Amino acid sequence: MQQQDDADRYVQRATEGDIFILRLANPPVNTLRSALRAGLFAGVQAAREAGAKAVVIVGTGRMFCAGAELTEMGKPRVPPGLHDIADEIARFPGPVVAGIHGGAYGGGLELALACHARVAAKGTKLALPEVKRGILPGGGGTQRMPRLIGPIPAVRMIVSGEPVTAEEALKLGFVDEVAEGDDIEAAAIAFARRALAEGRQFVLAKDRTDKIAGADLAAFDAEVETLLKRSRGMLAPVNCAKSVRAALTEPFEQGLKTERALFNELVHSEQSLALRHIFFAEREAQKVPGIPPGTQTVKVKKAAVIGAGTMGGGISMCFAAAGIPVTIVEANAEALKKGIERCAANWRRSRNAPPEEEIQRRLSLMNGTTDMAAIKDADLVIEAVFEDIEVKEKVFAELDRHARPGAILASNTSTLDIDRIARATKRPRDVLGMHFFSPANIMRLLEIVRGKESSPEAIATAIEVGKAIGKVPVVVGNCDGFVGNRMTGKRGPQIEKLLAEGCLPQDIDRVMESYGMAMGPLATGDLAGLDIGAAVRRARGTVAPIADAIVAAGRYGQKTGKGWYRYDENRKRHPDPEVERIIVETSQRLGITRRKISDEEILDRVLLPMVNEGARILEEGIATRASDIDVIFIYGFGWPAWRGGPMFWADRVGLKEVRDRLARYAEATNDPNLKPAALIERLAAQGGSFASLDGGKSPLASATAAAS
Ligand code: NAD
Repeated sequence: MQQQDDADRYVQRATEGDIFILRLANPPVNTLRSALRAGLFAGVQAAREAGAKAVVIVGTGRMFCAGAELTEMGKPRVPPGLHDIADEIARFPGPVVAGIHGGAYGGGLELALACHARVAAKGTKLALPEVKRGILPGGGGTQRMPRLIGPIPAVRMIVSGEPVTAEEALKLGFVDEVAEGDDIEAAAIAFARRALAEGRQFVLAKDRTDKIAGADLAAFDAEVETLLKRSRGMLAPVNCAKSVRAALTEPFEQGLKTERALFNELVHSEQSLALRHIFFAEREAQKVPGIPPGTQTVKVKKAAVIGAGTMGGGISMCFAAAGIPVTIVEANAEALKKGIERCAANWRRSRNAPPEEEIQRRLSLMNGTTDMAAIKDADLVIEAVFEDIEVKEKVFAELDRHARPGAILASNTSTLDIDRIARATKRPRDVLGMHFFSPANIMRLLEIVRGKESSPEAIATAIEVGKAIGKVPVVVGNCDGFVGNRMTGKRGPQIEKLLAEGCLPQDIDRVMESYGMAMGPLATGDLAGLDIGAAVRRARGTVAPIADAIVAAGRYGQKTGKGWYRYDENRKRHPDPEVERIIVETSQRLGITRRKISDEEILDRVLLPMVNEGARILEEGIATRASDIDVIFIYGFGWPAWRGGPMFWADRVGLKEVRDRLARYAEATNDPNLKPAALIERLAAQGGSFASLDGGKSPLASATAAAS
């Protein structure tokens, strides 16, 4: 009885004459939890038993349906499943019409595809995004979509997971009508009435063959090959493509079995677990202690950026692209002109270059000046001048004089003390860090640095504006390097030692790139400039004999055409015998006998120092939760989402094992950075994991803990 009540709660029933209406009602986004599926199954059955002529299925609230309930994923299945509902729809004698508004994603779209027809409100988004969670559409989507729109459009949608609009879906052929107006239920009922009046016969997707009969398999395979190039190392896109291919070579029922088998391969995979971890982690990161939802914010209608260099330019591009006017203040008129020209050039040569009139519109939102007084009506000012505390203090004192009361004042510093910068003003509550990553117009991470006095309103404003310009904001505490750079900074000494003991730059980069990183750490160093690291070492009084020798040889990285590698005219990197000579000579000078170092050891010695520092960052409360750190690495450091991030990696290795390996390498390499952090010692002793720290609240905490 309880079950029946539950089912009724999630699917409301209504009738309009001889049309039966089923409204999905699982706020906020009508995910297909088991009780909702039961309600839907029972609802279609009840419509048949009541002798209804047609059924209309709609969603209540924001959208039709966001798909599977991710928290139920990987658990034993509770019937009825989507297939049972599809069978029940097929048993219904009249048309079953899905009325879709807002969005239909994953299982939500698969439900709609199992209906006889689909009416979608203008602007609705439709997608099969399962690939982004490391799985495939397992509710018949890979079999029905190609039958509705043909193999190549279907495989593109399913392998990319990208949404299409209702209008595009109409053209592709999986939506039957685009409805104007807000009342999708009325539109779907009107569609059903018209169909009944016309005696229109519908063929269900499963029974259609017109789009797949005689499909050109060679053309299909060639398309798949191109699509898969973009997802190196990932399993899900491969299985998505295989499953769509089965629709071309197997009868429908057999194809469903193939789809199920390929789905099962993925659902328990490490990659899918990692991708779901990141999906939840991104949402968790938006919950910031002390900043409850509804915290007052400053509405940013106008922004200002100080400095038109590499970062200032990129940050200004983000505002202009989002339609927010931005005043750019430079000390130097020449740098200002160059900076704005560079923005235009970057847009023109970007992969998805906007049309010229859009570039002009964006440029018209940029107002360059050398007069600091021009910031007076900005709601948010972001400083991106030289990384020098005295320069920044001077700039903030000036901002304090010119900015309107209540404006938020942010610094893009990578390392400097936000509290000290705030003290240069008389309004430290309005000051915080907004740390963008280079290239700022592309990298999605935004570390929001909370100073001692930063107000909740200032933090909430930075989060809100960050989202508005397409970033993924993560709030962190104030310390040297904050989270991301502080952790990657700890790799340096181990990389130096690996080179001294037997590795070449290309060995380390190969291991990290085959792990899935967009670029290995040495190639990344060449991109950023090796002189920067050398300057930091000088300032801190540390030495790195090999890295210092490389810089001393005038090899500063890509900007001098050579660094850890030699670069050709297309900026392609090549191993350089001179680098090998410098490294081997330095090893000799240090009295080290070079040896062959295994890939496993390289991976461990690059990742473990970061994880150990991540643990210290958690101890100090600089990051709120381990999963926030993973989000930082995915969006700011080219870490592949399907690996889940450094803290997730450590949990999967198991913290006992991590502790033992850290201790072993700390001793073998005489590196105090590798002495296991107290938090790792404690969790290892308790059999705990980083995921278990937030009270096991993460839906994946039990899964990740189970591995350790
Ligand atoms: P940059 O040298 O390219 O640009 C700095 C610009 O600021 C120059 O054009 C300079 O003329 C201008 N400037 C200096 N003093 C000024 C003043 N008083 N008023 C107005 N303009 C002034 O430097 P960048 O790489 O863009 O770095 C800027 C800041 O961003 C630094 O704090 C840096 O640490 C931080 N950051 C840099 C990166 C990166 O990868 N480059 C990444 C994140 C953060």
